[in-house]
Amino acid sequence: MRTKIRKGLVYMALLIFPLTLNYFSPYLSVMAAMEGIIAGSILVFCLMFLSGMIFGRAWCAWICPIAGLSELTNSLNGKTVRSNRLSIIRYTIFLIWFSTIIIFLVLRGGILGIDPLFMSDNIISVDGPFKYITYYLVLAIFIIPNLIIGKRASCHSICWMSPFLEAGYLIGGLLRFRQLRIISDKDKCVKCQKCNVVCPMSINVMEELSDGVIGTKDCILCGECADSCPKDVLKYAIRK
Ligand code: SF4
Ligand code: SF4
Ligand code: SF4
Repeated sequence: MRTKIRKGLVYMALLIFPLTLNYFSPYLSVMAAMEGIIAGSILVFCLMFLSGMIFGRAWCAWICPIAGLSELTNSLNGKTVRSNRLSIIRYTIFLIWFSTIIIFLVLRGGILGIDPLFMSDNIISVDGPFKYITYYLVLAIFIIPNLIIGKRASCHSICWMSPFLEAGYLIGGLLRFRQLRIISDKDKCVKCQKCNVVCPMSINVMEELSDGVIGTKDCILCGECADSCPKDVLKYAIRK
């Protein structure tokens, strides 16, 4: 039931992605920074950072439109992905993009204004034929790595948004906030490996659960491992 609700939510987010595209756009955030403006997408990324402090990367499993896309591509290529090397690409993209924004804001003498509807006067993001090209390009950028490499490869390799969630999760942890986690009772595990097979983030859940909690920053709190476990080893909990 939980998985159905989660999938329903991300498919809905994917369906309305033509309306919301601009609010995730790295391009618009840079264009706005050139004028000293904070665009709507930066506000969304700040929200992601704040949600990460309590909910870790749950956004990636329950809200993100790209998660809906990944659910579809996972059924076409469900290969396990090694995330370590791919993450280097993601952090490099993030560093270049975010430093560019900071540099433009500094050159403009700081933040001159906040405009949630920057270059989105019609509120709807895809409001013309040219925007459709951008929209399909964005979809292609996220679909191709998944199809070529495997499960959620684009999340591991190119996503410029996930570092906000990870930073929020890290800082929330350092501030000793109570955070949503998947905890485990390792003594009940019969090593059937079902959790490893279903994990959309290619995490070695069996290895992680020996610590009593899935601690890797790659965990998106989708709950697939808990739902597939025949021995109730894994469950959600709120922990420091
Ligand atoms: S990693 Fe990025 S693209 Fe993938 S689900 Fe999370 S926020 Fe969305
Ligand atoms: S470890 Fe479990 S909750 Fe975390 S991403 Fe994998 S399946 Fe989802
Ligand atoms: S699905 Fe449950 S019992 Fe099977 S390996 Fe994973 S935690 Fe252990």
